Amino acid sequence: LWKNCLDLIEQKILPENFNTWFTPVYPCAKNENTLTLVVPNRFFERCLRENYLELIHETLEHIADKKLEVCFQVNGNASKAETHSNGNGAHPGNGSTAKGNGHVEPVAEPAAPRVEVGDPANRESFLNPKYAFNSFVIGPNNQFAHAACQAVAQNPAHNYNPLFLYGAVGLGKTHLLHAIGNQITAHNPNLRVRYISAERFTVDLIESIKRDKMAQFRERYRPLDVLLVDDIQFIAGKERTQEEFFYTFNSLYEYHKQIVVSSDRYPKDMKNIEERLRSRFESGLIADIMPPDLETKMAILYKKADLHEKNISQDVAMFLANNIKSNIRELEGVLLRVIAYASFTRRNIDMTLAKEVLKDFTVDKNKNFSIANIQKTVAQYFHIKVSDLKSKKRSRDISIPRQIAMYICREYTQASLPEIGKHFGGKDHTTVIFSHRKISGIVKENSELNGSIQQVLNILES
Ligand code: ADP
Ligand code: MG
Repeated sequence: LWKNCLDLIEQKILPENFNTWFTPVYPCAKNENTLTLVVPNRFFERCLRENYLELIHETLEHIADKKLEVCFQVNGNASKAETHSNGNGAHPGNGSTAKGNGHVEPVAEPAAPRVEVGDPANRESFLNPKYAFNSFVIGPNNQFAHAACQAVAQNPAHNYNPLFLYGAVGLGKTHLLHAIGNQITAHNPNLRVRYISAERFTVDLIESIKRDKMAQFRERYRPLDVLLVDDIQFIAGKERTQEEFFYTFNSLYEYHKQIVVSSDRYPKDMKNIEERLRSRFESGLIADIMPPDLETKMAILYKKADLHEKNISQDVAMFLANNIKSNIRELEGVLLRVIAYASFTRRNIDMTLAKEVLKDFTVDKNKNFSIANIQKTVAQYFHIKVSDLKSKKRSRDISIPRQIAMYICREYTQASLPEIGKHFGGKDHTTVIFSHRKISGIVKENSELNGSIQQVLNILES
């Protein structure tokens, strides 16, 4: 149904608008009277509602031969079934949660698009040509990592093997891994390069075990010249994956093949990882990427705007850079919204528009900062249970994460002190004050613990 609807809509509106507003949307459920569509974020939903809801209704009615309600769900919030029953008031009756008693049939979510590379020899490289060295902005925060990556790209398996890239979420690790791969394949089309996320590696492995295809699994890695493994922290606690990765690592390393891995923490901070793997990671070069300073963030904004053939003024760049703390993915996300919003409303990119967009963006972001989500994220990060956070346990490995979680709740939610206490197993509000004070002190220092707090915040913000 949605597919047919899209075909018709595509004929009715400009291709660029179709791409912007309809390609990211997909259906997730349908019952007798309602079609639920997944949209990337709330800002997107608003634009779609304001400009295309009528068209969607008309088209659906035309195809289904009856009126259908449409509701929206913001991506990533599937479990919460965010359908905004109140919408914006302009379209009463729309956006209400699936009513009626027809059962809801799930519609398969389309598989994530695979990144294909033109060169047939490298079809299996999974490299994204978008991430190149020339689109990477160098600043004091990433200079070293960038230089290390370039050295590896120019001379694979020469000096820095393995190269271990370390950095918090959204700081450019994935970008650099692809850049290495892209440069190597451009200069040496015969070399076999493969990018893979550790998660994908794990999924492949499980599939192969299940289908009794381990020999083929190993065969996929053995002939590679360059292996780029993203987010290796994912294999922590997964014994069989670690074992297999160790095997893959060794067989490549012995034949002097280049290995690059990225991680959101240093090898020594990786818990639940085998010692022999950790020491392999430490045996090469470790290069870190730090959060960018204001100037670097602005330079990134100019560069990204340029890629979209747009200009942004210094005050807009400064405003956005100042308001997005450290995550470059987020910085880019905000810029894209600014650009989309401007072109859509046919306005110039100025401070007024930037402020409007940022406000929406913050609302979208804050939905991650619920007390439950904060607790979950902190517990996951420190490898403890949410129930530990709520317990009375006093050991350091639990009390510190608990104080951090309370601090984040206090700083980033509207919840009152007693309310926060209640969510932590009924603690007194003075405990919350104490925790907040203690962690506030740490946040001002440049300590390792502060690094962890920033990381948790980054995860929550991403
Ligand atoms: P990570 O893998 O560390 O989470 P990514 O590599 O996915 O981060 O980066 C997030 C986004 O930010 C990407 O779109 C990337 O192109 C962009 N980005 C990060 N660092 C830079 C940089 N120094 N210059 C240009 N773009 C960057
Ligand atoms: Mg990444």
